[in-house]
Amino acid sequence: MVAQLGYEWEETGAVGQLRLHESDRPAFGGRDTVRVALQESAVDAGTESIDLKSGLGSWLLDRLKESGLAVHVRPREQPMAVQDISSRLFSAYRVENGRAHLGGCQLTDFPFLRLSFAAEEEGQPCVRHLFVAYDGTSVSDGQAQDLGLIDVEPIAKSPPRIEENALNALVASGRRIAAKNSSSRDPSASTVEPLLITLVWVKQAVGQLHFTVGDATAALPFSGWAKLIEAQPFVAKGSGASCYHLAATDDGRIDAYDEIATCDLSGRRVLRQELVTCSVTGKHVLEEFTESCPVSGKPALTEQFAPCATCRQRVSKSVLTRDTCTACQKMSKIKKDDPRLVWILGEHGGLDRWKRWQLSETQSVYIAQADRFMKRLLVVVDKETLAIRYLATSSRMSSTWTPIESALQAEYLS
Ligand SMILES: [Zn+2]
Repeated sequence: MVAQLGYEWEETGAVGQLRLHESDRPAFGGRDTVRVALQESAVDAGTESIDLKSGLGSWLLDRLKESGLAVHVRPREQPMAVQDISSRLFSAYRVENGRAHLGGCQLTDFPFLRLSFAAEEEGQPCVRHLFVAYDGTSVSDGQAQDLGLIDVEPIAKSPPRIEENALNALVASGRRIAAKNSSSRDPSASTVEPLLITLVWVKQAVGQLHFTVGDATAALPFSGWAKLIEAQPFVAKGSGASCYHLAATDDGRIDAYDEIATCDLSGRRVLRQELVTCSVTGKHVLEEFTESCPVSGKPALTEQFAPCATCRQRVSKSVLTRDTCTACQKMSKIKKDDPRLVWILGEHGGLDRWKRWQLSETQSVYIAQADRFMKRLLVVVDKETLAIRYLATSSRMSSTWTPIESALQAEYLS
């Protein structure tokens, strides 16, 4: 209170010294300093009591009332400038080959009302504060502590302005809250007048952080009470990851550093999710350099494909053993009424002359084998269109297949 009035105050042990302004001295017998006993032990003829009801206490209150309806203060600890906030936020982020900067920040003062009432605690007179938020709601003790409403300092010059109506509305809210509080503590109590009305101006910050790597930029908005603002994680659009460590892909997308990886084939820096693992070499590469193997269903680098010596389908090398794919090696015997065979024979009636069918399938084709007299037949059929992909024969004793030219295939198929 002393500081709010612009007096100098010094404490030595249990005694405080208040330096009076020239104009105040007559009221204190011409003295320039008043000694105040801060503890019972320091009370003597030369000291004044700290009690608000004492001569000095009520004199100080009168001075406060003279100084205007409300005293303007602000939390002692709160960011006063945009740089205070930005430096705190920037330190939370790391931008690989780039930087974080402020894309705009506005600080706005919001008035919190503090009503101070004379009270008693364990028989000792004291002051009890009640806080009202700028929107007229009550402020909990925890909130008051967090926002710095307890430890305040006066605003020496040009405090923020508040319309008289707005101030009156705040004071009215405060009185209502005070009345409610005191009646719940002591139903017979009547609300007393506040000793002092103080406006605590609390800064709110609204702005945006920008992260830049080369030509790429990403924004992260922030808002909140300046004192409480903390760096929030950047949520990347591409990967969806939350992070404080950022980087950019080669094509200029900013994402989490951990979500960016290098294509082992092209050396391009892309999102990890855009890379696939080659099932033959184990390399992490862009999908565009791979094909899906019809036998394993897994991607492999295009250069890691070779034809199967039996079915002649292009398959990844990981499913080839001695030039034959896993599908050709694992043929199973099927009955004549197997729906897959029924379907194939329905399309190519001539095949019905063959017996003892075996079948295997990949993602794209059926591979079927059958016998007739001393010959064997191999037929590879597209699963979707039932078109013949490959047709070959062999003698029952041989393991090599002789392809049947398309011009001669009709003989077998119809
Ligand atoms: Zn094969």
